[in-house]
Amino acid sequence: MTPRWWCLGYAFSVATPQVWNTHFALTTAAGLLLVDVPADPHLHLPRWGLDPAQTEHVLLTHFHPDHVSGLPLLLQNLALRGRTRPLTVHGPAPALARVRAWLRALDWEPWPWAYPLRWQAAPVDATPQPVLDWGGVRVWAATMQHLVPTWGLRVEGPSGRAVAYSADTAPNPALDALARAASALFHEATGDFAGHSTPAQAGATAQRAGVQALYLVHVDPGRTAEAVRQARQTFAGPVAVPQPGQAWAL
Ligand SMILES: [Zn+2]
Repeated sequence: MTPRWWCLGYAFSVATPQVWNTHFALTTAAGLLLVDVPADPHLHLPRWGLDPAQTEHVLLTHFHPDHVSGLPLLLQNLALRGRTRPLTVHGPAPALARVRAWLRALDWEPWPWAYPLRWQAAPVDATPQPVLDWGGVRVWAATMQHLVPTWGLRVEGPSGRAVAYSADTAPNPALDALARAASALFHEATGDFAGHSTPAQAGATAQRAGVQALYLVHVDPGRTAEAVRQARQTFAGPVAVPQPGQAWAL
């Protein structure tokens, strides 16, 4: 089975009924990895033939509502569906500490059906380093420049193809390193806000890193054409906004 990187939504903080907040999935022969969980995946993964019960890993880029708000419902509904095997949650240590405090507030621990949760907070800094080697895929992370501790990602598959994801961040050298010569860079394009990037900055990062294609995410679903037009002014390669449910073979 060829590993695939899926876009499950590309909206910025304000989602729409058609376009969910930005998040991704990785499918491999070993199961499913979710990158951020803005809403319960049981609601929409089946639309694309994906089953949340196959989730083996969750990777949270940072602890902001539009990236983590669906996690407790995912965990509860997996339990209610009879899960007994462990699930591993990855992310920056401060983000995972917040998630664990949040689950305590929801009385997760005493629930009799709770299956084991494993917490993997690798000590990541601005130098990209591998955080997961699983299902033929290697995931690298580096610390970004956002309002809270945040990981950017690079995912390398057995074919040699790689995708990179900026998460939420201002332009920074660690992101350039994660994206170096990637097949596709999924870059946030929120706009001119602290700890974020404009479409033109996303294009400039794509150009510096020498990626083959740029996909703008974390954008206003009502202004995608304008964002693409701005990014094309700084990146010579193809620029698009991904479609929810679109997948790339790794
Ligand atoms: Zn954020």
